[in-house]
Amino acid sequence: MATTAKQKIKASNGNSIDSSLDFNSGWSYSPAPESTDHIEIKDQYELFINGKFVKPAKGKYFPTINPANEKRLSMVAEATKEDVDKAVKAARNAYNNVWSKMPARERGKYIYRIARIMQERAREFAVIETLDGGKTIREARDVDVPLAAAHFFYYAGWADKLEYAFPGKSPHPLGVAGQIIPWNFPLLMAAWKIAPALACGNTVVLKSAETTPLTSLKLAEVIQEAGLPDGVVNIITGAGATGAEIVNHPDINKVAFTGSTAVGKIIQNAIAGTDKKATLELGGKAANIVLDDAPLDQAVEGIINGIYFNQGHVCCAGSRLFIQEDVADIVVRKLKDRMESLIVGDPMDKNTDIGAINSKEQLGVINKYIKIGKGEGAEFYQSSCSLPNGKGFWCKPTLFLNVSQSHRIAQEEIFGPVLAVQTFRTVEEVIEKANNTPYGLSAGVWTDKGAKIFNMTNKLRAGVIWANTYNKFDPASPFGGYKESGFGREGGLHGLAAYLHV
Ligand code: ADP
Repeated sequence: MATTAKQKIKASNGNSIDSSLDFNSGWSYSPAPESTDHIEIKDQYELFINGKFVKPAKGKYFPTINPANEKRLSMVAEATKEDVDKAVKAARNAYNNVWSKMPARERGKYIYRIARIMQERAREFAVIETLDGGKTIREARDVDVPLAAAHFFYYAGWADKLEYAFPGKSPHPLGVAGQIIPWNFPLLMAAWKIAPALACGNTVVLKSAETTPLTSLKLAEVIQEAGLPDGVVNIITGAGATGAEIVNHPDINKVAFTGSTAVGKIIQNAIAGTDKKATLELGGKAANIVLDDAPLDQAVEGIINGIYFNQGHVCCAGSRLFIQEDVADIVVRKLKDRMESLIVGDPMDKNTDIGAINSKEQLGVINKYIKIGKGEGAEFYQSSCSLPNGKGFWCKPTLFLNVSQSHRIAQEEIFGPVLAVQTFRTVEEVIEKANNTPYGLSAGVWTDKGAKIFNMTNKLRAGVIWANTYNKFDPASPFGGYKESGFGREGGLHGLAAYLHV
């Protein structure tokens, strides 16, 4: 495909913008696949309970596949009620006898050790994350793994300073935390959950998502290598039923969940009337808002980063784009040009921008919404890129224009590389439109004026708001949502409070 987009576009301020972009014109990148030589994936993985890898009580295993070629990577143990009970007992025992009694500075040393080993094995983690989940090696290598290690480093530092974090209070741990994580950032979500829990003196039973168990199990190996006392961290695998056993276990003091709003509601109902604490980080339908004074090229890059670079597999993905009317044509044209240059394909290739969709089921959901969007009458656009032949789950970067507020593609979480575009005239109008959603996890604002940023961040009902950037994370800054996006915060000081009685 050779696309040459040479246009002189009139900006709202009358300036002429040269968008002479020459994409894909007759040349392409040579393949640059990351090597898999240095990694080891076992044929079968057991449950990590009480410091050891043990067989599941019922002897059942399920496959985990590579979504880019549908080949089986490994068989993974399915934990049932008995296994969950064993894991919770191990965690309780470790809490009562070791972890809550250990001086906080010693706890901190173990957490530092995990962070360091994770850094040493960063390449291995990145490759396995990409093989098991379908995300690009670039994202796994540059985002997931370094951020996961950064979370362990950050919370290791807090372990012996909790009384400074909460001056005048006497913070103490909750006990045993049951943690359930999704498939979009498997290692990072495990780090978000385990690091603060340990720093605060809790012990943990964590369940990874059924389609992405491998990096959690690698983390279990790291935890073993770090010499953590047995039972402090237990990592089990299984699907929703295993998660429900954790949530309903009577000896869990806290449930930390990241996943869909539907399951979040089930969990909230399940723990109602108990004294279990909960942090729920659920779905999102973020508004990415471009004002007419914004640096447009940067904004386009932020839009691409917000929805396409991660296959749209982020609860905070900028899946609704609002463009101020007088720059709408320019932004859409630039966006389409940039979409043409995106490479969809082998996630292990360092040139790939958009990897594989995590599972056949998820691809089905995305395709269902594309059909709904077309049926609702929105204008449909997909880049003309080619998709890998044969096996694997793929979706081209997709755009819907002329979307209205009532369209389902503007209201419901799709969790794929599908962007719904609307326009607006005034700031008041866009704030109303942006807030008109059951969700409230994140948002983005693009403008040249600091005053406009402050005005909008005050009025947007979203837990995280990025200004002139998108999808930036740091262990020191809290993350979490309003409304149906959940409650409680992870990251920063707020993330400590979620694991303490203060
Ligand atoms: P996603 O849409 O990201 O797959 P889910 O909410 O279905 O989100 O899954 C997120 C995590 O919750 C996974 O680890 C999954 O196994 C787990 N899970 C699914 N159903 C339940 C349930 N009823 N109780 C507890 N955990 C569950």
